[in-house]
Amino acid sequence: MNEIKKDGNGKHPVRVGVYICHCGTNISKIVDVAYIAEQIAAQPNVVVSKHSKFMCSEPGQELIINDIGAQNLNRVVVAACSPLMHENTFRTAVERGGLNRYFFEMVNIREQVSWVTVDHHAATQKARALIRGAVARVILHQPLEMRRVPIGRRVMIIGGGIAGIEAALLIADAGYEVVLVEKEESIGGHMAKFDKTFPTLDCAACILTPKMVAVGHHPRIRLMTFAELEEVKGYIGSFVVKVRKKARYVKTELCNSCGMCYEACPSQPYPLDRKLILGDKVFKEGRPAKKRLPKPLVAKYDLTLFTGAQPMPEQAIKPKVGVETR
Ligand SMILES: Cc1cc2nc3c(=O)[nH]c(=O)nc-3n(C[C@H](O)[C@H](O)[C@H](O)COP(=O)(O)OP(=O)(O)OC[C@H]3O[C@@H](n4cnc5c(N)ncnc54)[C@H](O)[C@@H]3O)c2cc1C
Ligand code: SF4
Ligand code: SF4
Repeated sequence: MNEIKKDGNGKHPVRVGVYICHCGTNISKIVDVAYIAEQIAAQPNVVVSKHSKFMCSEPGQELIINDIGAQNLNRVVVAACSPLMHENTFRTAVERGGLNRYFFEMVNIREQVSWVTVDHHAATQKARALIRGAVARVILHQPLEMRRVPIGRRVMIIGGGIAGIEAALLIADAGYEVVLVEKEESIGGHMAKFDKTFPTLDCAACILTPKMVAVGHHPRIRLMTFAELEEVKGYIGSFVVKVRKKARYVKTELCNSCGMCYEACPSQPYPLDRKLILGDKVFKEGRPAKKRLPKPLVAKYDLTLFTGAQPMPEQAIKPKVGVETR
């Protein structure tokens, strides 16, 4: 006879029911479910240990519900598939049997055991160990109650690359307020550095710039560039975030992005050249060091490397004007 220990409060004897699913033959062709059921039956607090063909079926769920009443169970373990698939099914069954739905533990012996090995012995040992662990854990479970809490319907996105920009627009269009934080002076991320994008060879700027402008003008998006996160407190639905805005030394409400200050700035805070590294190839777009007048640069991108297209004749390559990075 099994030793029956009391629960965490020392009040009630804990009576566990364990159910091992065959999933047709998905589990049972690799894992020896009958052997494990027999082994687990000897574990302290286990009152019922059974195996069944399809635990998620109505007869499978009825098995649990009936045993809760007949065997006075107050904890349930099901070893079957992924909790993502059927945890809710079994929690509901446990509730239908009259127990708190959180007096339940699920073990995944399909995706994490039978589907990932052909070794019967190792699979059976692993499944048994996982179920033993679940039994030990469910004994410590406390009854939980679900409740609703108010949440802030505002989203912060960290990073204004194409992913952050697209997410900000989608979320804002769905009616939520968005705060988009970017550590650099401008949003755009990597995509702002490209000429064309693989595999369609679409012009990167043609895709990106309308989205950047849309972000800047969207009534529900607050854009914080040249800013970085300092602290995050709180929890899902109620975060409090501290953001440090770095000094620009420019009145942004007056600046029209003409770029003249680049010419006059004694510290030259902008890069003198820009590099793209693709594998072991480095592509450079240089700025004229002394004469700061924009000078056409010849495009050096060899797109045949990536597309398999025929190389363009030399004269067909159009001059490319150096792009300023802001
Ligand atoms: C050389 C190169 C060539 C590529 N070519 C192609 C191509 O041809 N076709 C294609 O489809 N893809 C290509 N890619 C991939 C593509 O560029 C990326 O997948 C895409 O740009 C990633 O966008 P992202 O928004 O996720 O990240 P990023 O563009 O990296 O943006 C991240 C943003 O987050 C900001 N950030 C980072 N940390 C913080 C922080 N702590 N606080 C605030 N802001 C932060 C960064 O400053 C940046 O603006 C290429 C990538 C590289 C590097
Ligand atoms: S509970 Fe999961 S493992 Fe069992 S029969 Fe249903 S789907 Fe298959
Ligand atoms: S010079 Fe042009 S880009 Fe520079 S701060 Fe003034 S308005 Fe802005």
